[in-house]
Amino acid sequence: MTNTLLIKNGHVIDPANGIDSVMDVYVADGKIENLGKNISKEADQTIDAKGLVVTPGLIDLQVHVREPGREDKETIETASMAALAGGITSIVAMPNTAPIADDQTVIEFVIKRAKEVNLVNVYPSGATTKGQHGKSLSEINEMKHSGAVAITDDGVDVQDENVLRRAMEYAKTCDILLMSHCETDTLTGKGVMHEGWVSTQLGLPGIPAASEDLAVQKNIILACMTGARLHLLHNSSIGAVDAIRTAKKNGHKNITAEVSVQHFSLTDEECFGYNTNAKMYPPLRSKRHVEAIIEGIKDGTIDAFTTDHAPHIEPDKLLPFQDAAFGSIGLETSFAVMNTYLVEAGHIDLSTGISKMTHEPAKIIRKDKGTLSVGADADIAIFDMNKEWVVSGKDGFSKSHNCIFDGKKLKGKAIHTIVDGTVKYSNGKITQ
Ligand SMILES: [Zn+2]
Repeated sequence: MTNTLLIKNGHVIDPANGIDSVMDVYVADGKIENLGKNISKEADQTIDAKGLVVTPGLIDLQVHVREPGREDKETIETASMAALAGGITSIVAMPNTAPIADDQTVIEFVIKRAKEVNLVNVYPSGATTKGQHGKSLSEINEMKHSGAVAITDDGVDVQDENVLRRAMEYAKTCDILLMSHCETDTLTGKGVMHEGWVSTQLGLPGIPAASEDLAVQKNIILACMTGARLHLLHNSSIGAVDAIRTAKKNGHKNITAEVSVQHFSLTDEECFGYNTNAKMYPPLRSKRHVEAIIEGIKDGTIDAFTTDHAPHIEPDKLLPFQDAAFGSIGLETSFAVMNTYLVEAGHIDLSTGISKMTHEPAKIIRKDKGTLSVGADADIAIFDMNKEWVVSGKDGFSKSHNCIFDGKKLKGKAIHTIVDGTVKYSNGKITQ
């Protein structure tokens, strides 16, 4: 029997196809069957989307799901629920689990568990090096064949240039994406926040922007040398944006870059009061850096927006700033943060913002997702763009509550989220 869904009168924005107008979307058997004005076909289920915005389901390239190993912080199920509540239908799971995903067993586990949970598309990534120790390469080819969409030592970065070179050569041979968290350990040292005026005020050891700048340069140089497909994770500094812009100007199409939404919206001043939710990797930086990130978004240097969703239990954050864990959750807030701080603030239009959360990230991981093209998988998000809400980390679906946007007022909220033609989230509730 055919399963059908009709979404009526929504403002459809599908940047990949240049669509930005009020129309209906008809879904049959998990695929987009038709887009058009006044579709009159009968459907099993109808959603009245009048006054709402209909987009391809969002894709998040950087999510720490914590399963296997730290199910007290988050699971594939709770991360998927939080994703749905944010209009996100596909996530890339980071490999720094316990055990670390450095061979096919963990990759296969994540895929199997995600299938059982059956909420969003979960694409695992594997570690670049064994144990993420930065010494010897992991089972890259085997992990690719098991379904890993990328390799990354996110969280620690590969420090040894020769190991990084070999990893890129191997990634190129296997035709797999390498995602780099860019950091220079010797410069980061014991730093816990951005090095600048605020860190001086607080008396906390700082992480200089140069730690990121140098690592971004190193990664770009080696990607140019090896021809590997390189994706630069969560860029946050002026030097990073400048280096990526230059690489792109020089025609290096194998290099892509993202920013996590907190890095275009917030500054290191969030750390005042020793607010440990504001402690993250890379650190929230000063206004000058945030402005440079926004410039990079406006001129197309930055391809995608992510959350770097990093759940932590309370005991990991209820500590002196220096000892607290790095990271913030963000799956339920990323779209609203984008809308509030970029679109409402007048920096970019909504379609550009949506493109960096849909078909641009899909291209990076080479998945046929992120569009509402006829025949495409029916992953769809429906947003109320006028809905203003105050974030409360503890009210979300995530197992952890460490949200940097806690208490902030945002505009825009997912009302319905559809995966493979099935409505999985509606009006605050998981519906499947
Ligand atoms: Zn990272």
